[in-house]
Amino acid sequence: MTVGHEFGFELRVCAWAEACWRPERDGAPRIVARQLGTKRRRWDTIVVEVDPEGLRQRAQFGAQRLDADLLHVVRHAPTDWAFYRDALPTPEYPWRYVREAVHRASDRGILETRRDGNKIEIRRAMAYPEWVRRIVAIENKPDLDASAADALTTQLRRDVALGLADEVWVATADDAAGGVQRALLADLPVEAGILVFDDDWTVTVEWLPHGLATAASGTRLTSRPADGADRPATGFEYVDADWKAHTRLAIAERAFERGWRSYVDTMRPDCRQFRLVDGAHGYVPACAAKAREQSAAECGGSCADYEPEPPGWRQHGWPIEGGPGATVQAVLADRRQRRRE
Ligand code: SF4
Repeated sequence: MTVGHEFGFELRVCAWAEACWRPERDGAPRIVARQLGTKRRRWDTIVVEVDPEGLRQRAQFGAQRLDADLLHVVRHAPTDWAFYRDALPTPEYPWRYVREAVHRASDRGILETRRDGNKIEIRRAMAYPEWVRRIVAIENKPDLDASAADALTTQLRRDVALGLADEVWVATADDAAGGVQRALLADLPVEAGILVFDDDWTVTVEWLPHGLATAASGTRLTSRPADGADRPATGFEYVDADWKAHTRLAIAERAFERGWRSYVDTMRPDCRQFRLVDGAHGYVPACAAKAREQSAAECGGSCADYEPEPPGWRQHGWPIEGGPGATVQAVLADRRQRRRE
Protein backbone atom coordinates (compact mmCIF):
# COMPACT_ATOMS: atom_id res chain seq x y z
CA MET A 1 0.00 0.00 0.00
CA THR A 2 1.29 3.48 -0.81
CA VAL A 3 0.13 6.87 0.46
CA GLY A 4 0.62 9.40 -2.34
CA HIS A 5 -1.89 12.05 -1.25
CA GLU A 6 -2.26 14.74 1.37
CA PHE A 7 -5.13 12.98 3.12
CA GLY A 8 -2.96 10.00 4.11
CA PHE A 9 -0.20 12.32 5.28
CA GLU A 10 -2.69 14.32 7.32
CA LEU A 11 -4.02 11.23 9.07
CA ARG A 12 -0.49 10.22 9.98
CA VAL A 13 0.26 13.64 11.40
CA CYS A 14 -2.91 13.34 13.50
CA ALA A 15 -1.99 9.81 14.63
CA TRP A 16 1.54 10.93 15.49
CA ALA A 17 0.28 13.97 17.40
CA GLU A 18 -2.11 11.79 19.36
CA ALA A 19 0.59 9.24 20.20
CA CYS A 20 3.67 11.45 20.62
CA TRP A 21 2.81 15.13 21.06
CA ARG A 22 5.00 16.75 22.11
CA PRO A 23 8.42 15.11 22.34
CA GLU A 24 10.18 17.77 24.41
CA ARG A 25 7.15 18.27 26.65
CA ASP A 26 6.83 14.64 27.55
CA GLY A 27 3.35 14.25 26.20
CA ALA A 28 0.91 16.94 27.26
CA PRO A 29 -2.61 15.39 27.54
CA ARG A 30 -4.41 16.24 24.31
CA ILE A 31 -7.21 15.75 21.85
CA VAL A 32 -6.39 15.78 18.14
CA ALA A 33 -8.79 16.75 15.37
CA ARG A 34 -8.55 17.67 11.71
CA GLN A 35 -10.00 20.27 9.38
CA LEU A 36 -11.19 22.72 12.01
CA GLY A 37 -10.94 26.47 12.41
CA THR A 38 -13.05 29.50 11.62
CA LYS A 39 -15.17 30.52 8.63
CA ARG A 40 -12.13 32.15 7.10
CA ARG A 41 -9.38 29.74 8.10
CA ARG A 42 -9.38 26.00 8.47
CA TRP A 43 -6.36 24.16 9.81
CA ASP A 44 -5.38 20.65 8.75
CA THR A 45 -4.59 19.34 12.22
CA ILE A 46 -5.55 20.77 15.59
CA VAL A 47 -4.02 19.67 18.88
CA VAL A 48 -6.00 20.75 21.92
CA GLU A 49 -3.86 20.39 25.02
CA VAL A 50 -6.17 19.74 27.93
CA ASP A 51 -6.28 19.74 31.69
CA PRO A 52 -6.95 16.05 32.51
CA GLU A 53 -9.32 16.73 35.40
CA GLY A 54 -11.08 19.42 33.38
CA LEU A 55 -11.46 16.97 30.50
CA ARG A 56 -13.06 14.40 32.80
CA GLN A 57 -15.54 17.04 33.94
CA ARG A 58 -16.17 18.14 30.36
CA ALA A 59 -16.93 14.52 29.41
CA GLN A 60 -19.90 14.64 31.82
CA PHE A 61 -21.58 17.06 29.42
CA GLY A 62 -21.72 14.31 26.79
CA ALA A 63 -19.85 13.49 23.60
CA GLN A 64 -21.64 16.10 21.51
CA ARG A 65 -20.11 19.53 21.25
CA LEU A 66 -21.64 22.50 23.02
CA ASP A 67 -22.31 25.20 20.45
CA ALA A 68 -21.99 28.92 21.19
CA ASP A 69 -25.58 29.26 22.44
CA LEU A 70 -25.28 26.28 24.77
CA LEU A 71 -21.97 27.53 26.10
CA HIS A 72 -23.53 30.90 26.85
CA VAL A 73 -26.19 29.21 28.97
CA VAL A 74 -24.16 26.49 30.63
CA ARG A 75 -21.12 28.59 31.53
CA HIS A 76 -23.20 31.28 33.21
CA ALA A 77 -25.92 29.14 34.79
CA PRO A 78 -26.33 30.03 38.48
CA THR A 79 -25.94 27.59 41.35
CA ASP A 80 -29.37 28.62 42.75
CA TRP A 81 -32.67 28.90 40.90
CA ALA A 82 -33.06 32.17 38.98
CA PHE A 83 -35.04 33.54 36.04
CA TYR A 84 -32.78 32.86 33.04
CA ARG A 85 -32.86 36.49 31.85
CA ASP A 86 -31.70 37.67 35.26
CA ALA A 87 -29.02 35.03 35.57
CA LEU A 88 -27.38 35.14 32.14
CA PRO A 89 -25.40 38.00 30.57
CA THR A 90 -27.36 39.94 27.95
CA PRO A 91 -26.57 38.28 24.62
CA GLU A 92 -25.73 40.04 21.37
CA TYR A 93 -28.70 38.28 19.76
CA PRO A 94 -32.42 38.01 20.63
CA TRP A 95 -33.40 36.37 23.93
CA ARG A 96 -35.57 33.85 22.13
CA TYR A 97 -32.39 32.05 21.01
CA VAL A 98 -31.26 31.88 24.61
CA ARG A 99 -34.60 30.41 25.56
CA GLU A 100 -34.20 27.74 22.86
CA ALA A 101 -30.73 26.98 24.15
CA VAL A 102 -32.11 26.65 27.69
CA HIS A 103 -34.55 24.00 26.44
CA ARG A 104 -31.85 22.19 24.48
CA ALA A 105 -29.54 22.18 27.49
CA SER A 106 -32.35 20.86 29.65
CA ASP A 107 -33.11 18.11 27.11
CA ARG A 108 -29.46 17.08 27.20
CA GLY A 109 -29.50 16.93 30.99
CA ILE A 110 -26.78 19.57 31.39
CA LEU A 111 -29.03 22.25 32.91
CA GLU A 112 -31.89 22.12 35.40
CA THR A 113 -35.05 24.05 34.62
CA ARG A 114 -38.40 24.67 36.28
CA ARG A 115 -41.34 26.97 35.74
CA ASP A 116 -42.40 29.82 37.98
CA GLY A 117 -45.62 30.91 36.33
CA ASN A 118 -44.63 32.11 32.87
CA LYS A 119 -41.00 32.35 33.78
CA ILE A 120 -38.39 29.68 33.19
CA GLU A 121 -35.91 29.37 36.00
CA ILE A 122 -32.58 27.66 35.59
CA ARG A 123 -29.91 26.17 37.79
CA ARG A 124 -26.64 24.55 36.82
CA ALA A 125 -26.57 20.76 36.77
CA MET A 126 -22.77 20.87 36.94
CA ALA A 127 -20.06 23.46 36.50
CA TYR A 128 -18.58 23.81 33.03
CA PRO A 129 -14.83 23.32 33.56
CA GLU A 130 -11.78 25.16 32.26
CA TRP A 131 -10.51 22.18 30.31
CA VAL A 132 -8.58 23.77 27.40
CA ARG A 133 -4.97 24.66 28.10
CA ARG A 134 -3.55 25.37 24.66
CA ILE A 135 -4.57 25.08 21.04
CA VAL A 136 -1.95 24.20 18.46
CA ALA A 137 -2.56 24.42 14.71
CA ILE A 138 -0.59 22.35 12.21
CA GLU A 139 -0.59 22.93 8.47
CA ASN A 140 0.30 19.79 6.53
CA LYS A 141 2.37 20.17 3.38
CA PRO A 142 3.97 16.88 2.38
CA ASP A 143 5.02 18.23 -1.05
CA LEU A 144 6.54 21.58 -0.36
CA ASP A 145 7.54 23.30 -3.57
CA ALA A 146 8.20 26.99 -4.17
CA SER A 147 4.62 27.90 -4.96
CA ALA A 148 3.21 25.91 -2.00
CA ALA A 149 5.78 27.60 0.25
CA ASP A 150 4.67 31.05 -0.97
CA ALA A 151 1.01 30.36 -0.22
CA LEU A 152 1.92 28.83 3.11
CA THR A 153 4.03 31.83 4.11
CA THR A 154 1.07 34.14 3.49
CA GLN A 155 -1.28 31.93 5.51
CA LEU A 156 1.13 31.65 8.40
CA ARG A 157 1.68 35.40 8.55
CA ARG A 158 -2.07 35.77 8.91
CA ASP A 159 -2.16 33.12 11.64
CA VAL A 160 0.62 34.86 13.53
CA ALA A 161 -1.04 38.28 13.24
CA LEU A 162 -4.37 36.93 14.47
CA GLY A 163 -2.93 34.84 17.31
CA LEU A 164 -5.92 32.55 17.63
CA ALA A 165 -3.83 29.42 18.21
CA ASP A 166 -1.11 29.29 20.85
CA GLU A 167 1.30 27.89 18.28
CA VAL A 168 1.32 27.28 14.56
CA TRP A 169 3.39 24.56 12.91
CA VAL A 170 4.11 23.24 9.45
CA ALA A 171 4.44 19.49 8.95
CA THR A 172 6.26 18.39 5.84
CA ALA A 173 7.85 15.23 4.45
CA ASP A 174 11.53 14.67 3.99
CA ASP A 175 12.08 14.03 0.35
CA ALA A 176 13.91 10.99 -0.87
CA ALA A 177 15.97 13.06 -3.29
CA GLY A 178 18.02 14.68 -0.58
CA GLY A 179 15.90 16.10 2.15
CA VAL A 180 13.17 18.63 2.43
CA GLN A 181 13.98 21.88 0.70
CA ARG A 182 15.40 23.85 3.57
CA ALA A 183 15.70 27.01 1.56
CA LEU A 184 11.90 27.06 1.33
CA LEU A 185 11.47 26.43 5.03
CA ALA A 186 13.84 29.29 5.77
CA ASP A 187 11.36 31.74 4.26
CA LEU A 188 8.52 30.77 6.61
CA PRO A 189 7.76 33.18 9.47
CA VAL A 190 10.10 32.52 12.40
CA GLU A 191 7.09 32.20 14.71
CA ALA A 192 6.00 28.96 12.99
CA GLY A 193 7.41 25.61 14.12
CA ILE A 194 8.53 23.00 11.59
CA LEU A 195 8.09 19.22 11.80
CA VAL A 196 9.71 16.95 9.22
CA PHE A 197 8.42 13.39 8.74
CA ASP A 198 10.86 10.77 7.43
CA ASP A 199 9.99 7.87 5.15
CA ASP A 200 9.50 5.64 8.19
CA TRP A 201 7.29 8.30 9.84
CA THR A 202 9.75 9.28 12.51
CA VAL A 203 9.64 13.00 13.17
CA THR A 204 12.28 15.66 13.55
CA VAL A 205 11.46 19.02 15.12
CA GLU A 206 13.37 21.32 12.77
CA TRP A 207 12.27 24.58 14.35
CA LEU A 208 10.45 25.37 17.57
CA PRO A 209 7.64 27.93 17.29
CA HIS A 210 7.20 31.15 19.20
CA GLY A 211 4.12 31.20 21.41
CA LEU A 212 1.42 33.56 20.12
CA ALA A 213 -0.47 36.14 22.19
CA THR A 214 -3.86 34.46 22.37
CA ALA A 215 -5.08 36.54 25.33
CA ALA A 216 -4.48 39.87 23.54
CA SER A 217 -6.41 41.37 20.66
CA GLY A 218 -5.24 40.23 17.23
CA THR A 219 -5.02 41.61 13.74
CA ARG A 220 -6.89 40.10 10.83
CA LEU A 221 -5.20 40.80 7.51
CA THR A 222 -8.04 41.38 5.10
CA SER A 223 -6.51 41.41 1.66
CA ARG A 224 -3.37 40.55 -0.22
CA PRO A 225 -1.53 42.02 -3.20
CA ALA A 226 -3.39 41.10 -6.39
CA ASP A 227 -0.19 39.84 -8.04
CA GLY A 228 0.55 37.56 -5.07
CA ALA A 229 3.88 39.31 -4.53
CA ASP A 230 5.65 39.06 -1.22
CA ARG A 231 4.50 42.44 0.05
CA PRO A 232 2.50 43.24 3.15
CA ALA A 233 -1.26 42.76 3.10
CA THR A 234 -3.18 45.86 2.09
CA GLY A 235 -5.81 45.98 4.83
CA PHE A 236 -6.47 44.82 8.37
CA GLU A 237 -8.96 44.90 11.19
CA TYR A 238 -8.61 44.33 14.92
CA VAL A 239 -10.10 41.28 16.55
CA ASP A 240 -10.77 41.56 20.25
CA ALA A 241 -9.59 39.12 22.87
CA ASP A 242 -13.15 38.09 23.82
CA TRP A 243 -13.89 36.95 20.28
CA LYS A 244 -10.68 34.95 20.29
CA ALA A 245 -11.46 33.27 23.62
CA HIS A 246 -14.95 32.43 22.47
CA THR A 247 -13.74 31.07 19.12
CA ARG A 248 -11.00 29.00 20.73
CA LEU A 249 -13.51 27.31 22.99
CA ALA A 250 -15.83 26.65 20.04
CA ILE A 251 -12.92 25.04 18.15
CA ALA A 252 -12.02 22.93 21.20
CA GLU A 253 -15.63 21.79 21.54
CA ARG A 254 -15.72 20.71 17.90
CA ALA A 255 -12.40 18.90 18.33
CA PHE A 256 -13.81 17.12 21.37
CA GLU A 257 -16.82 15.93 19.40
CA ARG A 258 -15.11 14.91 16.18
CA GLY A 259 -11.57 13.85 16.94
CA TRP A 260 -9.54 12.99 13.84
CA ARG A 261 -11.15 9.67 13.00
CA SER A 262 -14.42 11.19 11.83
CA TYR A 263 -13.25 10.53 8.24
CA VAL A 264 -15.00 7.20 8.61
CA ASP A 265 -18.35 9.04 8.67
CA THR A 266 -17.94 10.16 5.05
CA MET A 267 -16.03 7.18 3.62
CA ARG A 268 -17.39 3.70 2.83
CA PRO A 269 -16.26 1.27 5.50
CA ASP A 270 -19.21 -0.88 4.38
CA CYS A 271 -17.35 -1.57 1.09
CA ARG A 272 -15.79 -5.03 1.02
CA GLN A 273 -12.56 -3.47 -0.28
CA PHE A 274 -12.19 -1.15 2.72
CA ARG A 275 -9.35 -1.91 5.09
CA LEU A 276 -7.69 -0.35 8.09
CA VAL A 277 -3.90 -0.62 8.04
CA ASP A 278 -1.21 0.25 10.53
CA GLY A 279 -0.07 3.80 9.79
CA ALA A 280 2.91 3.74 12.15
CA HIS A 281 1.14 5.59 14.98
CA GLY A 282 -2.48 4.56 14.41
CA TYR A 283 -4.84 2.94 11.92
CA VAL A 284 -5.43 4.61 8.56
CA PRO A 285 -7.86 3.54 5.80
CA ALA A 286 -6.72 1.65 2.70
CA CYS A 287 -8.39 0.13 -0.33
CA ALA A 288 -7.71 -3.46 -1.42
CA ALA A 289 -9.11 -2.83 -4.92
CA LYS A 290 -6.77 0.09 -5.54
CA ALA A 291 -3.89 -1.58 -3.70
CA ARG A 292 -3.11 1.72 -1.97
CA GLU A 293 -4.47 4.14 0.53
CA GLN A 294 -7.47 5.92 -0.90
CA SER A 295 -8.34 9.55 -0.30
CA ALA A 296 -11.57 10.52 1.46
CA ALA A 297 -12.88 12.00 -1.79
CA GLU A 298 -12.31 8.75 -3.70
CA CYS A 299 -14.01 6.56 -1.13
CA GLY A 300 -17.66 7.40 -1.67
CA GLY A 301 -20.81 6.23 -3.40
CA SER A 302 -19.45 7.26 -6.82
CA CYS A 303 -16.37 5.04 -6.57
CA ALA A 304 -16.31 2.68 -9.58
CA ASP A 305 -14.74 -0.08 -7.45
CA TYR A 306 -17.31 0.09 -4.66
CA GLU A 307 -18.60 -3.34 -3.66
CA PRO A 308 -21.16 -3.55 -0.91
CA GLU A 309 -20.55 -6.09 1.79
CA PRO A 310 -22.45 -9.30 1.00
CA PRO A 311 -25.65 -9.38 3.09
CA GLY A 312 -24.48 -12.67 4.62
CA TRP A 313 -21.59 -10.84 6.27
CA ARG A 314 -24.04 -8.84 8.32
CA GLN A 315 -26.16 -11.74 9.40
CA HIS A 316 -25.74 -14.52 11.90
CA GLY A 317 -22.90 -12.67 13.56
CA TRP A 318 -20.44 -13.40 10.68
CA PRO A 319 -17.60 -13.23 11.55
CA ILE A 320 -18.29 -10.34 13.89
CA GLU A 321 -21.77 -9.08 14.57
CA GLY A 322 -22.79 -6.42 12.06
CA GLY A 323 -20.10 -7.26 9.49
CA PRO A 324 -16.66 -5.73 8.95
CA GLY A 325 -17.94 -2.25 8.00
CA ALA A 326 -19.81 -1.87 11.26
CA THR A 327 -16.81 -3.23 13.11
CA VAL A 328 -14.49 -0.63 11.55
CA GLN A 329 -16.87 2.12 12.63
CA ALA A 330 -17.15 0.66 16.12
CA VAL A 331 -13.36 0.38 16.50
CA LEU A 332 -12.78 3.98 15.42
CA ALA A 333 -15.67 5.27 17.55
CA ASP A 334 -14.18 3.43 20.51
CA ARG A 335 -10.75 5.05 19.91
CA ARG A 336 -12.40 8.48 19.64
CA GLN A 337 -14.32 7.96 22.87
CA ARG A 338 -11.21 6.85 24.74
CA ARG A 339 -9.49 10.13 23.92
CA ARG A 340 -12.38 12.06 25.39
CA GLU A 341 -12.04 10.19 28.64
S1 SF4 B 1 -13.34 0.38 -3.63
FE1 SF4 B 1 -13.85 2.54 -3.52
S2 SF4 B 1 -15.48 2.67 -1.97
FE2 SF4 B 1 -14.48 0.66 -1.74
S3 SF4 B 1 -12.89 1.01 -0.19
FE3 SF4 B 1 -11.94 1.32 -2.18
S4 SF4 B 1 -12.09 3.53 -2.53
FE4 SF4 B 1 -13.55 3.02 -0.91
